Amino acid sequence: MTDRKYLVTVDHELCVGNATCLRAAPRAFELNEGGQSEAVAPDTETRENLLEAVLLCPMNAISVTEVETGQRLEPEA
Ligand code: SF4
Repeated sequence: MTDRKYLVTVDHELCVGNATCLRAAPRAFELNEGGQSEAVAPDTETRENLLEAVLLCPMNAISVTEVETGQRLEPEA
């Protein structure tokens, strides 16, 4: 069992480090030394903010999976 609610990943093949995700979900992401986003504390953010980050990322680099269901969450268009 895990207490984590969300598994958030950033594809570093795609991330261009423009920090849009940090503005949408500032507690969940930070830029690493290479200037790319890392999901550091996704469970401290609301589902809405995480999905906003997915929606606003220009590279579609972020994925959010609900741990309990294994379902990948998609923002509503
Ligand atoms: S919004 Fe997307 S491209 Fe920009 S830093 Fe975040 S993950 Fe990288």
